[in-house]
Amino acid sequence: MIVNKTHLVMGKSKSERLFGHLMGVVHQDLCLNCGACAASCPWGSIKLINGRATLSGNCTACGLCYAQCPQTVTDETLIKKIFGSSFSTPLGTYKEAYSGCARNPEIRNEGQDGGIVTGLLEFLLKEELIEGAIVMDRDSEWKTQPQVAVTRREIIDSSGAKYTPGPILTATRDAVDHYLLEKMAFVGLPCQVRAIRVMESEEPVLRRITNRVELVLGLFCQHCFSYEGLFEEKLKKEMNVNPSDVVGINLAKNGSLTVKTDDSEHELSPNSIDNCIFEPCRICRDFSARFADISIGAAGTPQKYSTILIRTDKGKEIFRRAVDRGIVEAEPLEDTDPSIKDVKNQSLKKKKSAEKEIQSRREEGKSLPPKISGEL
Ligand code: SF4
Ligand code: SF4
Ligand code: SF4
Repeated sequence: MIVNKTHLVMGKSKSERLFGHLMGVVHQDLCLNCGACAASCPWGSIKLINGRATLSGNCTACGLCYAQCPQTVTDETLIKKIFGSSFSTPLGTYKEAYSGCARNPEIRNEGQDGGIVTGLLEFLLKEELIEGAIVMDRDSEWKTQPQVAVTRREIIDSSGAKYTPGPILTATRDAVDHYLLEKMAFVGLPCQVRAIRVMESEEPVLRRITNRVELVLGLFCQHCFSYEGLFEEKLKKEMNVNPSDVVGINLAKNGSLTVKTDDSEHELSPNSIDNCIFEPCRICRDFSARFADISIGAAGTPQKYSTILIRTDKGKEIFRRAVDRGIVEAEPLEDTDPSIKDVKNQSLKKKKSAEKEIQSRREEGKSLPPKISGEL
């Protein structure tokens, strides 16, 4: 691969060029475990080991990993690049809002919250608008597994919330380098959507990946848990519940967690799992994946349905085609209960809670992402 190093470092201060600088993000518990740095390094020198970006090869100090890290870019920069104008609402900008579900009963039942994400991906695959989708799967122990799903079955099997983060951006590089995909969809949590948007709004060397992303689907996210905190400490050690015995998890709007095994059901109060929350989530202000083409989640709609926020022209066109082809059924969100107000309230609640935490970290001199704190 030929990389124009001069171009990569252009416009960046010397201190922003080193992998070592990225370590500031990693070592201060700000790393989202998104994998964007690993996907971006021209030399493939970064690996995510135990959820942490780690240098595992030569570093030419090009600075790309730091520039692509979603924790080093401001919201304002991204908003302008994607939407052309600024917005300041916690919910972000959207063109249309629906409540909907997949029409296919198999997908509706097996997919999350009515199967909208699964239904849309299956539609894109069938219509050959994509050759595969970047999704998050999990293993039998509930450890996240970034995946390039290229069949209908793989798409269906990867559905459902995973509750812990994983380096999904690494799969975008696999999709290009190993699967040789020309067209793909990307499904991610708000921070992961942010990461793919940073990649596509930056250096041309990354466009070999992002030019092939046809659609970005974002998932609503209240917060995640650290795998060690929830599955190893809380479930395994404290409650004697083996992760591989867990058959279902549900995170309620009030923050309580229901964990089911074949022969038991455990209700965990928000207080009892607070210390399991993935640390960077405490300062995350994006509930509804504001940078996605289409954002999807359960808030705002009845059970077995999803709220669908169409944010971009591309998202609007694809969703319209999916509705016209009878893949999804959708009605304007205002006509359903509890409606868009619920999504707005949850977005605002998350933003306020994050800002309170940011303020308190500032006062206590604790670490914050550089573009929030001006430090690092
Ligand atoms: S060579 Fe890789 S690890 Fe080094 S600064 Fe560039 S992107 Fe980062
Ligand atoms: S790009 Fe993602 S994985 Fe890499 S250091 Fe930043 S937040 Fe962590
Ligand atoms: S709360 Fe934010 S940082 Fe945490 S997993 Fe969700 S989107 Fe990512």
